[in-house]
Amino acid sequence: MPPQAVKINARAWDEVADSIEFVPAAYSSKTRPESAAQEMLRCGPGDIETLVAAGLPFDVQSGVRHFDVNDLYNLGMYSGRSNTQPELAFRMLFRFAGRQVADLLHPKSWDFQVRLDCTECGGVAPWRFEAPDAVRFGGAVNHVVAPTRASEGTAEYKATVTTTGVRTPLVSSELRSLTRDYLEAGYRWQMVPVAMQANYQLVHTLGSTSCIAASLLLAERFRAAGYRAEAKRGWFCGVLGGALDLPHASVEVEDDDGVLKTVDIAKAQLAARLSSNTEAFQDLCLGSIYNKVIPSTASGSAAFATHECGSQTPVHVRADIRSLR
Ligand SMILES: [Zn+2]
Repeated sequence: MPPQAVKINARAWDEVADSIEFVPAAYSSKTRPESAAQEMLRCGPGDIETLVAAGLPFDVQSGVRHFDVNDLYNLGMYSGRSNTQPELAFRMLFRFAGRQVADLLHPKSWDFQVRLDCTECGGVAPWRFEAPDAVRFGGAVNHVVAPTRASEGTAEYKATVTTTGVRTPLVSSELRSLTRDYLEAGYRWQMVPVAMQANYQLVHTLGSTSCIAASLLLAERFRAAGYRAEAKRGWFCGVLGGALDLPHASVEVEDDDGVLKTVDIAKAQLAARLSSNTEAFQDLCLGSIYNKVIPSTASGSAAFATHECGSQTPVHVRADIRSLR
């Protein structure tokens, strides 16, 4: 059993705070008021005082302390209390990982809708959206309604996306060993803001990892070993009602057998941490494709959408992906 799978017990909040890396100020966005923090962590005002004293960053807006949602997620995840919202959300999200992997290998269709919001829009302009690209892994994208015309403020993309899974484990001993080295390096999975993940050196220097950062680093190592590899973003399906906006990326690499493989290394680590009965899923993450991921055309550190209106504020992308049937 990997060490991450050992169940940890509930710890005092100051110990939990010491055990995680808070989001550095340059990447932090403090949007959750103290009441939301108490609800997420199922804790009282005294516990919040303890966390703040232990270094939980905050700022004060209209007299109320506000916190970064990633910090709150990580505190909950590593609290060992099993009643915090992050623990419940992750357990629900990864319930599939302990089931038969055969369920992840058949074709599956999704009602895929994305809303693009340019919150500080500069006016009517064309949109660029990195669409689902399930075709390169045997899937299909049908009934597409894309934002082809210039517009202001908001736009929508809709499609029916079919994904599938194929068991294609890595065959190259070099790729396997680079992957194993990464897994054994002991980086700890955390929720990390997307903009910070692009600075993958920083994420790893802090001893942490997350899907995009892990994929960017591993892709670099694969390339250094002479392989064609690229980190690509996608959507991890089954995220309940947007309660958990889990950024997804994996490494796409051309293996020695000429087959394009995906290495979803951070999901393997996360599954190992969440449950000990996920070995088969973890194995699937290392080369194979599975039907709960919708690949996109976006590279690892790229935005899913941009609006050419001149605004400097990134477009807010909100996906609503529902299983059909
Ligand atoms: Zn705009």
